[in-house]
Amino acid sequence: MLTQVIPLRPWSEAAPIAAPSPAVEPEDIGPPIDSLGRSLRELRISVIDRCNFRCVYCMPKATYGRDHAFLSRDKLLGFDEIERAAAAFIALGVRKIRLTGGEPLLRSGIEQLIARLAALRTPEGHPVDLAMTTNGSLLGRKAEGLHAAGLDRLTVSLDAISDAVFRRMNDVDYPVARVLDGLEAARRAGFGPIKINMVVKRGVNDGEIVPMARWFRERLGPAVVLRFIEYMDVGTSNRWRMDEVLPSAELIELLQTHFPLDEVSSLDRSSTARRFRYRDGLGEVGVIASVTAPFCGGCRRARLSADGQLHTCLFSSRGHDLRPWLSAAAGASLRASIATAWRARTDRYSELRNSTPPQGAPPRIEMHYIGG
Ligand code: SAM
Ligand code: SF4
Ligand code: SF4
Repeated sequence: MLTQVIPLRPWSEAAPIAAPSPAVEPEDIGPPIDSLGRSLRELRISVIDRCNFRCVYCMPKATYGRDHAFLSRDKLLGFDEIERAAAAFIALGVRKIRLTGGEPLLRSGIEQLIARLAALRTPEGHPVDLAMTTNGSLLGRKAEGLHAAGLDRLTVSLDAISDAVFRRMNDVDYPVARVLDGLEAARRAGFGPIKINMVVKRGVNDGEIVPMARWFRERLGPAVVLRFIEYMDVGTSNRWRMDEVLPSAELIELLQTHFPLDEVSSLDRSSTARRFRYRDGLGEVGVIASVTAPFCGGCRRARLSADGQLHTCLFSSRGHDLRPWLSAAAGASLRASIATAWRARTDRYSELRNSTPPQGAPPRIEMHYIGG
């Protein structure tokens, strides 16, 4: 029997949306399907909104200067709350969890959180796939502990192989060699294959596409998978412009002239990347065409911000506040709140980007807060 749940308040209200206070019996809360027929399968958890880089497309220095007010420590979800949230999402169908940020390795005790999440089980008794996206700067000393704690997979963000270009992209003069050392430490610790994410901004680091591909395929082959990501209009502080996006189709054409590629067909409907194998067997590359070929139809991903807001789209303006339901006592109410928010979901921002430019909409949430 399905009991009535209290509907969400409309998006137009200024304050964050308080998650509903549903009167639902635990057995009523099954895996939710959103209003466009999409189930809930993946969760990204931002564990901190701070970062030691100032990537020009994510946290430009003009906005994120020395006096920028990040979330204070007491506003960050504690590990008990994150674990409870993760357990509730798993009960509702989530099978992949990715830790992100800000820079997730800046969160102290992250290894303990990983161990707690790795111990969670699906209703069928299986662990979930546990991954992390990091800028790699702290991997040199952290990789072994992350692996030992139960982290399954790593994605390292790296936007150039040229030291000068990389320093310009991270804008804190961070040397590429230290990220590469971190990557090596991760491989030694047992991670693999490791994904490398490169955001391409036309006119800024597009000259690095071929050098990056060459460097990784020749030195590491199938041990890493390089993925090129279209520069997106997440948040507003990066002052995104369409002419700074290099379409993935153009990028693949360019790569093909240097390294013959064959497309790998994917059976995973919610996969965001198109994959291509080097014909000479030296591994594969991927492209994530979030701007020019959106994949909202298969988007089964929720995001939890570092202060407990549930976002059902990367481009949302505000979240559903789960904090009231994250205490030990909340139990089924937490699951019901998440399920209610998911069922009401209509998000398909990227599919609408070109047809209906937002007018007078509140500013979109920034990437470092919501988690990439
Ligand atoms: N700090 C970590 C890192 O950089 O890997 C994790 C958080 S970061 C927000 C997650 C991912 O989002 C990174 O791979 C980053 O390159 C990507 N990202 C950030 N802003 C972006 C944008 N405007 N367009 C496309 N990708 C972006
Ligand atoms: Fe930091 Fe990651 Fe954003 Fe770069 S992309 S500023 S490393 S959060
Ligand atoms: Fe999912 Fe929103 Fe991105 Fe579409 S725009 S794929 S709904 S996160």
